[in-house]
Parts: sequence; C-alpha cells; structure tokens
Amino acid sequence: MIERTEAIILKTQNFSETSRIVSAFTRQFGRMNFMAKGARKPRSRFGASFQPGGVSQIVFYRSRHSELHTVSETDVVWDPSALAEDGRMNPAAVALEMGYKLTALESPNMAFYKNLSGFLRALPSSGESPSQLLGFFLAALNNLGHSPRLDSCVKCRRELKSGGPVFSVTEGGFLCPRCHAPEGECVHLRPAQSAALYGWHSTGELCDITRHDCKCLIETLTAFVNHHISGRTKLICVKYLA
Ligand SMILES: [Zn+2]
Repeated sequence: MIERTEAIILKTQNFSETSRIVSAFTRQFGRMNFMAKGARKPRSRFGASFQPGGVSQIVFYRSRHSELHTVSETDVVWDPSALAEDGRMNPAAVALEMGYKLTALESPNMAFYKNLSGFLRALPSSGESPSQLLGFFLAALNNLGHSPRLDSCVKCRRELKSGGPVFSVTEGGFLCPRCHAPEGECVHLRPAQSAALYGWHSTGELCDITRHDCKCLIETLTAFVNHHISGRTKLICVKYLA
C-alpha cells in the first residue's frame, strides 16, 4: 500500500554502500522506520531529504511483514541546515533524541509532532535559548504522558503554591519539606527553579530564568526520565549542551 506523510527526521544509519535506514516522527503515524534506497549517493536530492532535524514529505510503500517501510519519493518541507550554525544542533539533538527514545513505534501523537516541529523550526531565530529547550522538554513530557507532579507534593499530595524545595527523581515530582527524607534520589531546587516549574505547570508559560537555572532543570528532568526508562534507551544528549 502506498502512503504519504510529513515527517521529522530523527536519525539515520548507513545500511549499505548506497542506502540508509531512516527513523522519523511522522505526522499521521508516529515514529516509523524507513529504508531509503540510494540515499547515500553523492549529491542526491533524495538523500538531502533525510537530514536529522529536517522535515520532509515522504511517499512510502507500507510493509505488511516488517516495521521497515520503503521510501519511494520525498520532498524537503523544511531544510535544517541553519541548525548546524552556532551550535544549535545541540538543543536540536536533545529534542530529536526524545523523539527517538521516548515514543512508541507507529503510535500517532499529533501534540508531540507539533511541539517538536515548532521547536526545531524556531531554533534558527531563537538561537540556542535554553528556556526554549526547557519549554519544549516540559511540553514533550506532557505530550508523551510522562509529566512529573508539579502542583503538589508527590507523596502527601499537599498543595505547593510556589513549587517545592526538592524534586524527587525517583518519585517524579516535588516533595514538601515534611516528606523530604534523605533516601531516594533528590535534587534541591533554587527558589527560581522551583517557581519556574510551578509557573509552567499552572500557566503553560516559562517565567524569565537564567541559562544556568534552565540547564539545571533540564538535567533534573532528564534524570527523572532516565530513572523511569530502562537500559540503552536512556537520554544522553543533555550532557553536550553548552
Ligand atoms: Zn509531602
């Protein structure tokens, strides 16, 4: 069966002298794997449609027997070349890794698709703004059903109006001072960090926070995600952020 979809290219892998295996997050079908025959030929327009971070229109033959579908035609919708400038590929790599490692194969998720595509396309003009990445990260956790608890204590459920002093990586949310015990993996948050998480949860907007605070929060949320997923799928790109 021939199908067509718009897709964000997450990752590619050389397959033979001339072919590539492409992982992409598609608008209609979620994450899919494709065989792109001839995509490694030099100066091929077809090959240029599979740059990680880019968006392409893909026509493919759906395989009935495997999870690898064969691409027949492509068209570049958004060229990601600008991401390679000024180290913007690093925040992009964090976002693409989430798409690759935290989504189920062939499980559609339009909210995540729009979040990822919007984030990547805004990167060349927003620069490598860490608050942009933190906003994407929090929204992505929400899109994928992995939201941490950010309105009350994750243990006693007591309401925490401006966020909690501690984020529990193992429990997945704020802990109030009463419930905070030394066991379990916890991160002490600065008041600005705590307020940013709470603010995002209640308004969907991030208040002004420093680069440093953003980076700490992205690291804390990554530790939380990694605690809850296993083995080789752990997120690692965060450590390359400047
Ligand atoms: Zn509590």
